[in-house]
Amino acid sequence: MFQHFEMGPIRPPSEAGSLLIRVTRNCPWNRCTFCPVYKGEDFSLRDTDDIIADIDTMAGIAEDLRQLSRDQGSGGQMTPAVVRQLLFREGQGLQVATFLAHGGQGAFLQDADSLVVKPPQLERILRHLKLRFPSLERITTYARSRTLLSRSVEQLESLREAGLTRVHVGLESGNDDVLTFMKKGVTGAQQVEGCTRVMQAKLELSCYVMPGLGGQRWTQAHAKDTARVLSAIAPDFIRLRTLAILPGSPLDAAQQSGEFEALSDLEIVEEIRRFIEALEEIPTYLASDHVLNLLGDLEGQLPKEKQALLGMVDTFLGLDDETRELFIIGRRVGLVHRPIDLFDEGIRERLVHAREQARKMPGGVKGALGVRYDLL
Ligand code: SF4
Repeated sequence: MFQHFEMGPIRPPSEAGSLLIRVTRNCPWNRCTFCPVYKGEDFSLRDTDDIIADIDTMAGIAEDLRQLSRDQGSGGQMTPAVVRQLLFREGQGLQVATFLAHGGQGAFLQDADSLVVKPPQLERILRHLKLRFPSLERITTYARSRTLLSRSVEQLESLREAGLTRVHVGLESGNDDVLTFMKKGVTGAQQVEGCTRVMQAKLELSCYVMPGLGGQRWTQAHAKDTARVLSAIAPDFIRLRTLAILPGSPLDAAQQSGEFEALSDLEIVEEIRRFIEALEEIPTYLASDHVLNLLGDLEGQLPKEKQALLGMVDTFLGLDDETRELFIIGRRVGLVHRPIDLFDEGIRERLVHAREQARKMPGGVKGALGVRYDLL
């Protein structure tokens, strides 16, 4: 049995192979209307000594795993055979094994806003993490841009020197009406200021944008102002994460009352096109690495691949209604990634079958996508 360490509920998709180090619990803000992740949970800072003890526990588990691998003749590597063995053991060996199987190079500090931890304590955690896991090349965290405003460039530089490499910011929108309605607790101008400090401290910056967040009312302004704000920041990465309205969330209530009117899938893609079009010539990588995004292949380096990115959007927009519906179903059930995948006859047949089943259900195709996996 492996020893226990504390682990938070989420990490960015790009940190799937990272070691997860929980430095705080939940979200210190916790008011964003669209966000269900920590609702009903109280925020707390964790004791630094407890976090150090967790890191030591993980380092011990990593050593046990390497020994297990050597005992099996796998030379310390995390082979599928070693990982299979862990499925039947208690504890959190699998999380550490996943990290090792990805090369042992990345760690992510949880939960929603680790930079609220006082800089000297965070530096101690980072230094200890680097000491126990010398193979680490990347240590990243989420931070609110409002919290970044309470940290000087010098403090952020000290965190970089201690080992922090990248900050993920849930920017979501650059439009003040959208930010106010969604209770994000920050303005577009503050987002520029907070995020710029990260860039000045020579940390990598990854900004999340939420297509669809402006709804029908602000879709034009959301695209335009988000592009304007990100053009001013010029982050290393822009990551798209399409709005999903979860049942029971405050945004769901706003939708029920008519206060918020969501965009259709097609309108969201049109909004993304306007957003990309409006971005200035910034040296930023645009990524679409979230399962909620309809266009999974919408990735490329700006500004040189801007036209290619717009071309990918136009390929989707140019599909006929029937093919577009099949693509949306296929994407939602995880069968297709790009429109070109629909040329596979086997896939297309399965999707046509799924659509016929969905049409017979209450709510038709749209309603059925809520129980999507039953269709195939
Ligand atoms: S700051 Fe982030 S984690 Fe906290 S409520 Fe807003 S979106 Fe959710």
